[in-house]
Amino acid sequence: MQRYISQLNEAQQAPVLQKDGPMIVIAGAGSGKTRVLTVRIANLMSQGVDAFNILALTFTNKAAREMKKRIADIVGTNEAKNLWMGTFHSVFAKILRSEADKLGYPSNFTIYDSQDSLRCLGGIIKEMQLDKDIYKPKQILGRISSYKNSLITVKAYFNNPELQEADAMSKKPRMGEIYQQYVERCFKSGAMDFDDLLLKTNELLNLFPDVLAKYQDRFRYILVDEYQDTNHSQYLIVRALSDRFQNICVVGDDAQSIYAFRGANINNILNFQKDYENVQLYRLEQNYRSSKNIVEAANNVIDKNKTKLDKIVWTSNDDGPKIKVHRSLTDGEEGRFVAATIFEQKMQNQMLNGQFAILYRTNAQSRAMEDALRKRDIPYRIYGGLSFYQRKEIKDVLAYLRLVINPKDEEALVRVINYPARGIGDTTVEKLTVAANHYKRSIFEVMEHIDKIDLKLNAGTKAKLNDFVTMIKSFQVINENQDAFFLTDHVTKKTGLVQELKKDGTPEGIAKIENIEELLNGIKDFTEGQKEIDGARGALAEFLEDVALATDLDKDTGDDDRVALMTIHLAKGLEFPHVFIVGLEEDLFPSAMSLNTRSELEEERRLFYVALTRAEHQAYLTYAQSRYRWGKLVDSEPSRFIEEINDQYLEYLNPVDSGYRYKPVMDIDVFGDIDKSKLRLAKPTAGTPPKYFTRDEPVSSANIRRLKPVSSNSGRSNVVDANLNVGNIVMHERFGKGQIVNIEGIGADKKAEIRFDVGGLKKLLLRFAKLEVI
Ligand code: ATP
Ligand code: MG
Repeated sequence: MQRYISQLNEAQQAPVLQKDGPMIVIAGAGSGKTRVLTVRIANLMSQGVDAFNILALTFTNKAAREMKKRIADIVGTNEAKNLWMGTFHSVFAKILRSEADKLGYPSNFTIYDSQDSLRCLGGIIKEMQLDKDIYKPKQILGRISSYKNSLITVKAYFNNPELQEADAMSKKPRMGEIYQQYVERCFKSGAMDFDDLLLKTNELLNLFPDVLAKYQDRFRYILVDEYQDTNHSQYLIVRALSDRFQNICVVGDDAQSIYAFRGANINNILNFQKDYENVQLYRLEQNYRSSKNIVEAANNVIDKNKTKLDKIVWTSNDDGPKIKVHRSLTDGEEGRFVAATIFEQKMQNQMLNGQFAILYRTNAQSRAMEDALRKRDIPYRIYGGLSFYQRKEIKDVLAYLRLVINPKDEEALVRVINYPARGIGDTTVEKLTVAANHYKRSIFEVMEHIDKIDLKLNAGTKAKLNDFVTMIKSFQVINENQDAFFLTDHVTKKTGLVQELKKDGTPEGIAKIENIEELLNGIKDFTEGQKEIDGARGALAEFLEDVALATDLDKDTGDDDRVALMTIHLAKGLEFPHVFIVGLEEDLFPSAMSLNTRSELEEERRLFYVALTRAEHQAYLTYAQSRYRWGKLVDSEPSRFIEEINDQYLEYLNPVDSGYRYKPVMDIDVFGDIDKSKLRLAKPTAGTPPKYFTRDEPVSSANIRRLKPVSSNSGRSNVVDANLNVGNIVMHERFGKGQIVNIEGIGADKKAEIRFDVGGLKKLLLRFAKLEVI
């Protein structure tokens, strides 16, 4: 047996060794599902299956890349090159490009991101003169998205009185018209939004049997990771493609289904056995990722859910440290605790930043964390916030590039037709839009024929429109002869974008120019990479597609060492030695919006299960007693999820008070840089958790002293350095025995350079290094 197979346990080997037929692997977190997929692919190839015939669908493109790398390690880079791997969206975008004409789209169709979709909807709602407080673009987009993911086309919508009634009842009787308008505009712009990539793939496979047959024949082996979070549209694609050969292997964990709000359908996993004949069901039970404490605590939590498949998860790993629970007064203090702990751990155990993750329920929570990390000079990276490519200045440049590839792209056009200002006013743009809708043409096409259409524009305006058209066409010519880097550089200069920002002169303006430079660097990298692959010019269209489909998790090359900050939703499938789950407060996590039904609460609990099972060695659960939300300081209670974990797995970092499960701690240190004169201790009222302070009343020095007595938990020193000398033999908790070769610095900054028997020379901050002289 090959080594890569014998490294798996028996339960993991079974789905690898079954070559053909439908199979499903249902197993808890960290049990090796993703690893099984990887090895299965390698094994298929070693048995002569052509890489060309294998399709693997993953949750992020990064996961796909990593998988490919591992497979390449086993079967060789050349062999792995032809594997089709990626997210549903990226894989099917490629297929749609080569089949686009069948659906009436240009093969260079634009992919609208949600910003583009929202802008487009905003325009429609305005033109229809609807109240945008009732017709909120975000909500509307959410509905359209759920229609599309359930394959409800505009036509199907109008054939379905129930849907129309439901929309009317929620005060949106014109929802259908908006949907229709939106779909027409996207089509006219040669654009697909994210959901279209799946919907149109379904259409393609349904309407064109020959196309379906072609891809069925091509993808003889299909594998899907994180199957529990596929939506209906994705499910149908997988079903259709696997229908002929039925060599389909899906892996998932019902306990980690966390995307119901985006249409994920847990029934896909529950019904798999009904969908195919002779399905083999495999279960994995051993967790390799986490310590016993973490695995068992996670089991405690998920046990509270009623809707679940029965599963066993156990581990032979060490107990590991207990899960640490920390309470703080405010979100600011919570951030300082997290930053201090990371700092301390790095010092004590020589850990890298990249070994820590901070996970939160909502993106807004990242700010307090960022502030605290910055103060301690700890490098970090936020995933899933406003991504680089969504910044205004970047989107502006990209809009020009998109027009070069697809001049019909209406969102791109409207975005930059008058930016930088070139005297084409809103009224003109409105006239163009109306004409475009009237002729069912794109705005660009209307502009190309502006001399022949009577829009009551004066000669000056017409000339400006002509100039714009000419400029874009000149870019197109350049694009045919030069690489993407050359073109982009030219575009930023020729359009006046960079000059515009230079005029601005503010630090923000300068930062924007730097971002544009960064974009150019990225394009340079891309074009170089392309040249390496096939000697071709770096193709702009491909770059834009990469950008449109990249999540910023994808961009993570792991090169630079940073603490990872992300929402729990994004953390699915990942693992980190140390994980902080922050903001564990009622109404925040579980979210206030999820407390209406049991199933919503259960989804929150699964989310917590996902968060906790990301940790390999140490998990921290933190919460604040008050937090700024929506601009107000609100009191909060610890999340029920903490209570759902058996006490034996927890270590409370704050002393426990009778009457309250967690004693309020007031430590003068924790106020850090808050203006103390603005703190006040409020009298606790019986039965409710005490309020601690507001920011508008002064606090007396007497109060401050009363607040003082409790010890701090963070940044505490374990100094035993009083009589350390060069030459001393010392023991360190983790590195073992060593000899001090040098001492430098004084007081809190005192460091010792120690040569350890194992591990060599290390410099440790004595404040943190738990050294014992022997
Ligand atoms: P999740 O549900 O979180 O996606 P998973 O089931 O996909 O988890 P993997 O990510 O494949 O689990 O595996 C978890 C960790 O355990 C990885 O670091 C993996 O390399 C390791 N692992 C899996 N199987 C084995 C094994 N047989 N021996 C040693 N390590 C293993
Ligand atoms: Mg996985």
